[in-house]
Amino acid sequence: MARVLLKDVTKKFGEVVAVNKLNLEIRDGEFMVLLGPSGCGKSTTLRMIAGLETPTEGEIWIGDQLVNEIDPTKRNTAMVFQSYALYPHMTVFGNIEFPLRMWKVPKQERIRRVKEVAEFLGIADLLNRKPSELSGGQQQRVALARALVREPEVFLLDEPLSNLDAKIRTQMRFELKKLLSYDLGITTIYVTHDQVEAMTMADRIAVMDKGVLQQVGTPDEIFYKPANTFVATFVGSPPMNLVKGDVEEKDGKVLFDAGEFMLELPASIDIRGTAVLGFRPQHVEVSSEPKEGFVKGRLLGVEKLGVESYGHIAYGGVELILRLPEGVETGREEVYWRPRMDRMYIFDPKSGKLLY
Ligand code: ATP
Repeated sequence: MARVLLKDVTKKFGEVVAVNKLNLEIRDGEFMVLLGPSGCGKSTTLRMIAGLETPTEGEIWIGDQLVNEIDPTKRNTAMVFQSYALYPHMTVFGNIEFPLRMWKVPKQERIRRVKEVAEFLGIADLLNRKPSELSGGQQQRVALARALVREPEVFLLDEPLSNLDAKIRTQMRFELKKLLSYDLGITTIYVTHDQVEAMTMADRIAVMDKGVLQQVGTPDEIFYKPANTFVATFVGSPPMNLVKGDVEEKDGKVLFDAGEFMLELPASIDIRGTAVLGFRPQHVEVSSEPKEGFVKGRLLGVEKLGVESYGHIAYGGVELILRLPEGVETGREEVYWRPRMDRMYIFDPKSGKLLY
């Protein structure tokens, strides 16, 4: 069983708390993505699992073994870095063979395993080349081969695709997921700041901010039930709109009073008082003409993202982004809009926690 368990794991670098009381279980065979902005502690978490950093507090378990005191080479994990870290003076064969040499695997066995993994990754015809004679995508495959040849129980990847150009990145994203999850079914922990990578590859995503775990869930859970305003705005593009206001009851109706505009909310909402209303740009109704219950907004500008158009409107200090449906011409000055009632959220104004 190659389950990985982090129990109350903290890592401090002097005054900096890089990871703060992290509790996380990565199930056997699961593809877990650690997602968060730069500096949130995701790489440090991965490096602690690999044994390249020692936790200040807490326990790390791999399978049924407590590994805090276990040397990185004896952990049965393999790590792939963003930079690939190939040895430039060695051939592809030499690079892939390297960990087996370290382990003193006999020569015939080494040759067999290198060839097997190279075939598997489609780089068997590159074995005599040097890394400098390879494309970025090919170098990435060599780095993967060097990690896989060790037959690890846990695969650790730190932003492995960020040095590739957009087209190869999309292709490798799919290949990696297929290889690690479907072909090998290996426990994988994958670090990225790219939400699209996380959403498309993960079985579950752990979202981190400032060293603190914000939410763990499937891509759908993270997208449709964000635990707080951080997750709500970090995942999704353009980000979720957040508006501060008051939820109040008038004439039997539940209203959201944002000062410059008023919206009627579902009557089932029992929250009252100051709150933050959240809705995604895609989850709004927009009309060219005034409509009952819709709010008037002055368009500041329209942004084209692929085939979709997003209108920017401003109220007070905040700018809201709305996806404009086909038929709302983009040259106009005003639109009428409201959030879809079945897709809006209410957050606590202080803690940012999801209330509804
Ligand atoms: P990035 O995507 O930029 O690598 P990250 O989310 O992976 O970010 P970490 O690299 O884990 O973040 O860093 C978390 C925090 O710990 C940061 O504030 C970072 O500056 C700090 N940190 C990381 N490694 C060290 C170190 N060796 N010495 C001191 N501080 C460190």
